[in-house]
Amino acid sequence: MGFAGERQINTEERTAAPSGLRRGACPTLAAPMVTGDGLLARLRPAGGALSLAQFKALAASAAANGNGLLEITARGNLQIRGLLTESVEKLAADIDAAGIIVPAGPAIELSPLHGIDPSVAGNATALEAKLRDELSATLSSPRLAPKLSIVVDSGGRFSLSGLAADIRAVAMDDGRWLVAIDGDGMTAQPVSVGSANDAVRAIGQLLETLAEAGLHARARDIRTAVLQEAFPAGAAHFAALTRAEMPQPGIHELAVGSFTLGLRPRFGQMQAADLSALLQEAERLGGAEIRLAPGRLFFITGLEPENAKKLRAASTRHGFSSDPSEASAKIAACAGAGACASGFYETRALAQDLLQRAEILLEGSLTVHLSGCTKGCAHPWPALTLTGVPGGYGIVLNGRANDRPDVTIAGGEINLAIEKLARLIGKNKSAGESAAACLARLGAPAIAAALRQE
Ligand code: SF4
Repeated sequence: MGFAGERQINTEERTAAPSGLRRGACPTLAAPMVTGDGLLARLRPAGGALSLAQFKALAASAAANGNGLLEITARGNLQIRGLLTESVEKLAADIDAAGIIVPAGPAIELSPLHGIDPSVAGNATALEAKLRDELSATLSSPRLAPKLSIVVDSGGRFSLSGLAADIRAVAMDDGRWLVAIDGDGMTAQPVSVGSANDAVRAIGQLLETLAEAGLHARARDIRTAVLQEAFPAGAAHFAALTRAEMPQPGIHELAVGSFTLGLRPRFGQMQAADLSALLQEAERLGGAEIRLAPGRLFFITGLEPENAKKLRAASTRHGFSSDPSEASAKIAACAGAGACASGFYETRALAQDLLQRAEILLEGSLTVHLSGCTKGCAHPWPALTLTGVPGGYGIVLNGRANDRPDVTIAGGEINLAIEKLARLIGKNKSAGESAAACLARLGAPAIAAALRQE
């Protein structure tokens, strides 16, 4: 199959740098990434599920072998920070001893409440097992892009429709699976519909195509003509894709008498001691399991209604929020300076300032992305982005961290710029208009001019 922009990757390029240091690589346990506070290991346990004891063991190991900080990423993966070369092995040993399985190869991301939400349309774990059994050789190919993503969305109370992926399998109401590529639940391009066996065959064919094309090939690179030849009926299923609700914090009833509590650590970051204390409380109150979820949150499952409420009350004492509308949830902040060697500013400190100075920006219509540098680790999607650059900040009004800034602000003037932006919206927003709509209406040139004014 042919690819747009295809080129051969030679052995020298593949081995020039350790994979953990390569831009665009996933910092797995085998190849942790160097950051400003040591090494960072990212992992996704099988099925995104952990027992309470396993999560506690992970928190204890993060404290013993790292700097005690754990993060949940926007895609619902775990990150352990502040590791040393020698402590990564100890962390890996602790993970093994706790019985946590971290599958090799590309992450397969399942709907977080698979197996416990009776309203799901398909069996995500069975499909994942089939993919891993039947495609094990292809999935472990070193020629697949390190960040290749496969989503298995079984529907139900919360879906993964807002999560973009190279390849997605979506459960349909009639028991069949839709396979689509390159996009989220609304934008991905459908290629096939059929049984679980058909879905595995289609995904295998796509993975082989990507592996043939080499290490940097992503689903978006597959030429339309090639896709149509391989999957001639693909376009006919376009209407089957829909946007559904993404995972939310709060208490949710899944089955009669069985509740789950969704919790979000502030900006996705938590101290091991806070996490351990929360998990101890969850054990005491009869919690069953942890399910990691996109949106930097996790669910504690199997709670009785009264215990879910007690645990929710306790969680706030340990720095977790169960409020889906909390303002801090509208901020995506990466580790930033002090925690990452590439950061030009302290993202978490600016996030605290934003909460105090610019409530209007956090009313829910837009995400404010605080990125320590142009890499944009915390939020790979368009947002109101403040990117750290040498000597100051680039403000991208609706874009990614590496987009050309609409205005550049000197280091010491960022708080003033944020206040000006908040005042501009407050003054110009008409009744019922959102902050995002107001910014779009005013336009980048007018906003940039207002921010530059003395
Ligand atoms: S975006 Fe943030 S976490 Fe990522 S490399 Fe830059 S400063 Fe570090």
